[in-house]
Amino acid sequence: MNAQSIYFHLPRWAQEWALCQYARQLDQLYYGESYHRWYERFSAMEAMSGTQAREYQLQVLRALLHTALTHVPWFQELAKREGLRAESITVLEDLRRFPIMEKDPIRRNPAQFINPTYAPKRLWSTYTSGTTGTALKIVMPKETLGWWWALHEVRVRGWAGVSQAMPRAMVGGRPIILGSTDRPPYWRYNARWRQLYMSSYHIAPGTAPAYIDALRQYSSRWITGYGSAIALLGEHLREHPQTLGMTAALTSGDTVSPRQRQAIEQGFGCRMFDYYGSAEACCVISECEHGRQHVQPEAGILEIVDTHGEPCPPGVEGEFLCTGLGNDAMPLIRYRTGDYGSWAEEQHCPCGRQSPLIDHITGRTDDYLVLADGRRIGRLSTAMKKAPSVKQAQLVQDSLEHAWLLVVPDETYRDEDGQRLVEDVLMRIGARIITLEVRVVQEIPPTPVGKHVLVRRIIGDAQARAEYEALIAGETRFTVTNADVPIGQ
Ligand SMILES: [Zn+2]
Repeated sequence: MNAQSIYFHLPRWAQEWALCQYARQLDQLYYGESYHRWYERFSAMEAMSGTQAREYQLQVLRALLHTALTHVPWFQELAKREGLRAESITVLEDLRRFPIMEKDPIRRNPAQFINPTYAPKRLWSTYTSGTTGTALKIVMPKETLGWWWALHEVRVRGWAGVSQAMPRAMVGGRPIILGSTDRPPYWRYNARWRQLYMSSYHIAPGTAPAYIDALRQYSSRWITGYGSAIALLGEHLREHPQTLGMTAALTSGDTVSPRQRQAIEQGFGCRMFDYYGSAEACCVISECEHGRQHVQPEAGILEIVDTHGEPCPPGVEGEFLCTGLGNDAMPLIRYRTGDYGSWAEEQHCPCGRQSPLIDHITGRTDDYLVLADGRRIGRLSTAMKKAPSVKQAQLVQDSLEHAWLLVVPDETYRDEDGQRLVEDVLMRIGARIITLEVRVVQEIPPTPVGKHVLVRRIIGDAQARAEYEALIAGETRFTVTNADVPIGQ
């Protein structure tokens, strides 16, 4: 029995106690000594000019490259082969001499990318699936967590007028209640953080009133999570107006349409601030009070490139390459995050801050599953982190009751891995509502506009359906369906 199944066997009070214990551990990591140091620095650095920010980036970058080229095997090899040296980087543009880092080589051979001078006990691991369903383990020094959370406190929450110290609600994708739960509570309360953690998978027009009641009961002052889920609550509030006393809504993780933004701001009666923070801790983009998206220069160096790797001019959409400035244990240099966006043509913001402006971010737009009871299940990438043998995955929904889970396996893949993915998705949404069929394929085609997305909804799209059927017909391996899955019944 793993920790998760033990959790689900506990009564609610014990689950909430366990969440507090977990938060206690995280407090030491997130809000320790380095947090306070960086909090002061980031507060002071906010007024940097564009030139000062670039000088700062160059200085940190050179130290990072020096470490990478000296200690990290993959970069040592690169130094030998290409003659690259940190000293030869004299302006930020010199970074283009480095190759683009792809996720797949890191996933296949992680040790090549880790700085061996760090003792394992000094490192923290996290998994990211990105938008393409590729599970990837990222390691970073534990001190980096304080750096990362301080940056969020100052530049994300601070800009929205809220802080970690206020009671808050999180609409998230962690499985804190069983997917089959069909009555409130659809949340658990972490008293240590005064955080109401609400399941994003259970928000529907019919359950919205219970969610709103909980926000009032726990006096949440701000709400954060997936914009699509918070917008559903906003729509309900707009139809049934009531005063919640919210300071702000912070959305992240999916693209919020203007309609959804309006529903959130009118429904909750507060401003919405969208932000982007990569799981790899190499890029933070946050919205200021003028609604513009600022790239935070201390987090990393962002490049936006076209399909040939050439920089995109403002207004032209390209792919994000990020160089993280806070992690010298697994340096990510020109790392392809899988996100897309464009630089703003107007780089001046009335707020006066000089950090670069992004027009929009689109690559992280996952589609969502629509269930028969009206729920929209987005951001399923969190479910895809547990199968490192899956190189890529995609959920293809062709009817309200059925979806294929396509997986591209590596050589270590076994059928149980596919089953684990199915279990993980179904645990979040409830097993009886939709049948998921795993199909192993050699590749997953990009969307008509060339993007790799984790969820594609093709209900009523006969041409797309025919293409997927042809793809699947070429494969002989068939693995599991819900019938084999015990969780969430
Ligand atoms: Zn601004």
